[in-house]
Amino acid sequence: MPNRIYIIQDRCTGCTACSKVCPVTCIDMVGRPAEDKAKGVKWPKLAVIEEEKCIFCGACVDTCNTLGDKAKKADVFHAIVMEKETVAQTGPALDPTAYKGVWCYAEQRHGKIMPTIYELLNAGRQLADALKEDLSAVLIGHGVAEAAQDLIEHGADQVYVFDDPIFAQFLDEPYSAALTELIRQEKPNKLLLPASTIGRSFGSRVAIMANTGITADATELGIDPKTRMLNATRPSFGGNLMATILCEKHRPEMATVRPMAFARAPRVPGRQGKVLNVKFDSSKWNLRAKFVEFVPETSKMEDITTAERIVSGGYGLGKPEGFKMIEELAQLLGAAVGASRVVVDKGWIPYRHQVGLTGRTVRPKLYIAAGIQGAIQHLAGMSSSEFIVAINTDPNAPMMQLANLAVEGDVYEIIPALIKEIKALKG
Ligand code: FAD
Repeated sequence: MPNRIYIIQDRCTGCTACSKVCPVTCIDMVGRPAEDKAKGVKWPKLAVIEEEKCIFCGACVDTCNTLGDKAKKADVFHAIVMEKETVAQTGPALDPTAYKGVWCYAEQRHGKIMPTIYELLNAGRQLADALKEDLSAVLIGHGVAEAAQDLIEHGADQVYVFDDPIFAQFLDEPYSAALTELIRQEKPNKLLLPASTIGRSFGSRVAIMANTGITADATELGIDPKTRMLNATRPSFGGNLMATILCEKHRPEMATVRPMAFARAPRVPGRQGKVLNVKFDSSKWNLRAKFVEFVPETSKMEDITTAERIVSGGYGLGKPEGFKMIEELAQLLGAAVGASRVVVDKGWIPYRHQVGLTGRTVRPKLYIAAGIQGAIQHLAGMSSSEFIVAINTDPNAPMMQLANLAVEGDVYEIIPALIKEIKALKG
């Protein structure tokens, strides 16, 4: 049974609440037919739904039902009926062979391309090669079209570019509308987005609007050679299990990918590819959010997700003041400051410094773990670091086992000595 949505005419008051919440403007108010009036229905207007445009999000149904519950009137509201297909009723929802190509979303902020796209292009290239299909990047912004060649040089065979003032600042609604339209038109097979704040926020909207599934926060990706399906793997149960998630009956198969889970794709200068400029007609969509102001982060500390060196402190510091010493060492090394969850939970340092499963994933060249035991949830966020130094009083701590250089000792002896030595070397 296909999706259906319709109005129970006698119950509709023509109040327009449903049309106001519809994200795709597919509900209009029209004059009531004469037979309704003859039956004694007193409301002059009636809602009609353009079913072909409807994405069956259910927003109108919820609104009408909520109004009905509040009004406590038996004869009006609860006027919209939505019957949604279920996988069990319909079997395979579509022909997967009609969907081709691997897409990667190129996030930009204020016109600056985020490095996550290079990681996605690396992961996407492996998927595209396994499928023997093209790899594309999707770039949405204003004044960003020049970046398309850079994406081609990092492995994209083609780049779809939406370049329009409406995309000058990130807003979920126009970005997700544009990407959904392109998906409906081009039918990609797989779609990867970064598991950044932006990617998580609008990736999930796109999945709903495109009527497909999304795996959040994948750390490994692969293609099943028999089914050609995406195996998107992510930690679950606090990192104690790795779950591989499949989207069997809908396309594209989507995943947000943890920043730093993949190395960046190498750049091949002069590599050739296609740039496809795409237009977005915002009048077709009911875009309600408006950009008001951007308030930048005021902290001067380096961002751990992009840092090449990180000095991290854990509960072994014993007190919040211990971070003064960590910050001093970080400054001398040109490093960012990281932290374990315990010290973040205790309020010693803000969350944006947390490394690990429920914090950030990092992949620096140098990671110094001071007074951090190396719980599996912490290791999940930093074990791909190139060179790990552990400072710990317990030689058997897991971090000491993992480290390239394990220094057994008290952080309050080792770090001041290190600071002194570096200062002396710098003169
Ligand atoms: P502790 O476990 O207390 O270890 C302190 C270490 O310091 C010890 O090894 C000790 O030997 C050493 N030490 C003590 N004194 C000194 C000294 N003077 N000098 C040198 N060394 C000393 N944790 C994260 O970090 N990131 C996450 O994202 C995260 N997510 C989680 C998600 C879930 C669902 C759960 C259940 C847990 C999560 N955790 C996370 C918590 C994690 O399990 C650990 O509790 C945490 O990482 C421990 O932090 P720690 O190593 O700083 O503290």
